[in-house]
Amino acid sequence: MNLASYASHQHEFPAARWRADFPLLQRSVRGMPLAYLDNAATTQKPQPVIDSEARYYTEINANIHRGVHWLSEQATLAHEAARERVRAFINARETCEIIFTRGTTEAINLVAQSYGRAKLGPGDEVLISGLEHHSNIVPWQMVCQQTGAVLKVAPIDDTGTVRMDEFRRLLGPRTRLVAVSHVSNALGTINPLAEMIALARAQGVPVLVDGAQAVAHTPVDVQAMDCDFYAFSGHKLYAPTGIGVLYGKRTLLDAMPPWLGGGDMIRTVSFEGSTWNDLPYKFEAGTPNIAGAIALGAAIEYLGRVGLQAVAAYEQELLTYGSEALAAVPGLRMIGTAAHKAGILSFVIDGLHAHDIGTVLDTDGIAIRAGHHCAMPVMEFFGVAATARASLAFYNTREDLDRLVQALRKAVEMFA
Ligand code: PMP
Repeated sequence: MNLASYASHQHEFPAARWRADFPLLQRSVRGMPLAYLDNAATTQKPQPVIDSEARYYTEINANIHRGVHWLSEQATLAHEAARERVRAFINARETCEIIFTRGTTEAINLVAQSYGRAKLGPGDEVLISGLEHHSNIVPWQMVCQQTGAVLKVAPIDDTGTVRMDEFRRLLGPRTRLVAVSHVSNALGTINPLAEMIALARAQGVPVLVDGAQAVAHTPVDVQAMDCDFYAFSGHKLYAPTGIGVLYGKRTLLDAMPPWLGGGDMIRTVSFEGSTWNDLPYKFEAGTPNIAGAIALGAAIEYLGRVGLQAVAAYEQELLTYGSEALAAVPGLRMIGTAAHKAGILSFVIDGLHAHDIGTVLDTDGIAIRAGHHCAMPVMEFFGVAATARASLAFYNTREDLDRLVQALRKAVEMFA
């Protein structure tokens, strides 16, 4: 190896080395090596995350916060250490601003039912964008129905970019909350959050960011972003299902009423009435997903070793490579061609149904998603019932994309 190629090798992202940490990626599917390209739906889990969850159950399983015995103390310590890891991961100011939820969906519902229900009245407005996941549409529709508020939607253009002229126009005197995704799961569009948040801030309107598709792919700093709420799911971040996070600014969370009632979220209970616990416990009624939170901490620690800056750069490289290769497949149309995109390749092919594409790829051991991706309004905008979607993670390689393109070419020859 000469010096120049050695130097360039040093800068290469070692995807294959990290991939070896993921037991499931070593298996074959339908007799073929697995090419897992459904990471926007959920990611695979590295061994340290699996070990962390197993270690919790084999060594310290007990209920937290209430116990006086050693196991309960250990479980509580591990659970709260995970909360601190999440805080550092998104650079929240205080640990009490990190609320554990079941995932993004629950986090957004929490804000809708606590903040929204308390603050919204007839004629008030909630502003979202035209590329939102159902999780960032339906909770707002529900709270609008309950309060008489109105849902406003800033539309997207033909590339799948939110129209900022419309966003500006719709951000009016009755807007009480803006709720937008960081990255669209159906299109890959990265929203211009800095601009959106600055505009909302200028009018004193709080902003919730749905970070489900962002946290595993780019560093997030909620203080620098200056959002008011940020929601994400562990399972898209190499952690287990059933654990997620709502970050909220302390001043807002302190003023919000609890949503779910039950154990742990109270300070005192009598039949005459109850008082609430401090943050973050006020929003964590009942026994939480203790093992999941601890394993989320392990995933964050693992991702820290991989390095999110390097992940972001590598996934951009893969995205460019994949976009160019897919563009050469006969009859293929990309859905979502925004200037700023994350590693999501959504497409349709003339004469082939998205579900058939998914099924054909599956026979080659290639896992993608076909459907509306819980973003029916996006499908409607582009005039398609469904798309095929390949979504990237740092353990994917050019070879995965080569196999995808090769299998698509085969499918086009066979069916189109
Ligand atoms: N928002 C976006 C942008 C998503 O991609 C998803 C998951 N597909 C969600 C919200 C919902 O996440 P969860 O199902 O983990 O609650």
